[in-house]
Amino acid sequence: MTGPVRVRVAPSPTGDPHVGTAYMSLFNLAFARQQGGQFLLRVEDTDRARFQADSEQQVYDTLRWLGLDWDEGPDKGGPFAPYRQSERLDTYRPHVDRLVADGHAYLCWCTSARLTEMREDQQKRKLPTGYDRLCVGKTAAERAELPGFQERPVVRMLVPDDPPLHFVDLVRGEVSAPRPDDQVLLKADGFPTYHLAVVVDDHLMGITHVVRGEEWISSTPKHLLLFDWLGWDRPAFAHMPLLRNVDKSKISKRKNPAARLTWFVEQGYLPEALLNFLGLLGYSLPDSEKEIFSFEEMSESFDWSRVNTVGPVFDLDKLGWLNGHYVRELSEQDFAERALPFLQRAGLVGSPAGPDELAALGAVTPLVQTRVAVLSELPDLVRFLFVDEEDFVVEEAAVAKALTPAAAPVLTAAADALEGLDEWSTQTVQAAVDSALLEGGLGLKRGKAYLPLRAAVCGSSISPPLPESMALLGQERVLRRLRSAAALAG
Ligand code: GLU
Repeated sequence: MTGPVRVRVAPSPTGDPHVGTAYMSLFNLAFARQQGGQFLLRVEDTDRARFQADSEQQVYDTLRWLGLDWDEGPDKGGPFAPYRQSERLDTYRPHVDRLVADGHAYLCWCTSARLTEMREDQQKRKLPTGYDRLCVGKTAAERAELPGFQERPVVRMLVPDDPPLHFVDLVRGEVSAPRPDDQVLLKADGFPTYHLAVVVDDHLMGITHVVRGEEWISSTPKHLLLFDWLGWDRPAFAHMPLLRNVDKSKISKRKNPAARLTWFVEQGYLPEALLNFLGLLGYSLPDSEKEIFSFEEMSESFDWSRVNTVGPVFDLDKLGWLNGHYVRELSEQDFAERALPFLQRAGLVGSPAGPDELAALGAVTPLVQTRVAVLSELPDLVRFLFVDEEDFVVEEAAVAKALTPAAAPVLTAAADALEGLDEWSTQTVQAAVDSALLEGGLGLKRGKAYLPLRAAVCGSSISPPLPESMALLGQERVLRRLRSAAALAG
């Protein structure tokens, strides 16, 4: 293969973008960048039945969120535009005509009812299933004499007796695939099938390496035949292992919310963490112990021999751990900026945020940055600080657990001690509470003493450290909450 490396990701806009699209993009892009080549995005929207209009934009948004940007694509243009297959229908037709003229493909007029009947019959008789070639060698008129005929034909490939069933894969070495059926290339509606469009476009767009999921291995012989018949150089192939659920099944959007890329955005994973995680699933650095790595490190060291061949398990605990790491690495400013939309979505902060809200966020950041694995955990942790005082309520679970009658004197003692403070800071708050409630005061253990205080002041049994939280909240609000909780408990 000569010339620059050109690779592509080719998502089908059939709903929320699949996490596999990001995974494929990552590997394609890492390789392209290492080679100084190009990465392009092609939208494979020939399946009109499953097409969803907003899916394409979601693909763009989520890939860009991950920093996996492309050099050419439908929204960017490029020397081989258009990059949306539905806009390339005229491109495919001459190649199909040529395949028919050369005897590599034929028209098939069978109705889908006939094909179903044929398949059922083959299954009943324990025969291999596949098109029985009823239409081969017939004109439309001849075929019309027989049952199960429809006016508008499809075009099928005529798979020879000795199709190429072995090929060298960059990840797997020598690969064998089963014998293909006489695949439909052009549908009755004039749309190409994936198999035709992918080959024509990969050739015309100068794709040098086809990097895609292992589910396409069984299709590769069909593609090789098409490249050969059309007299085109075959690209190199790399079939990536499929991402799997913990139970080893294939990740599907129906069964696993984490199959949807938008889920990671909603949950507040950081794009750099997800990217590292996807890289780790399929790749190991030369220093194989190293689990935390950037896109640049992956790309610089990229080598097909270090791509896993065993289905990597999509372990969300591991991702949570990685995400926590990246969250802690952020500067406070960066953390606050990324946290803000989560607080806005939870209705805790206005859009745009006011100066007081931003100041509160800045002040609480050092308390919470080390405590969240994902940013969506944040609203619950900081609600106590942002909620309007009249909307503040103690969660029922916290009431039941902490605001028992025995808590009332504890809350009152803390309020009395805090009421007298002239200086309000973490240190003075802690000293006042401790001397009122611990040894020398009510004689409680700190854990026991803080439990009702936390419920009263933060409204929940989880919160940032209590003295710091109270210091941020201010004397007036703390006293009001302690006194009303004491009344509630008592
Ligand atoms: N459109 C195919 C998909 O949705 C692309 C497969 C390929 O990369 O060849 O996965």
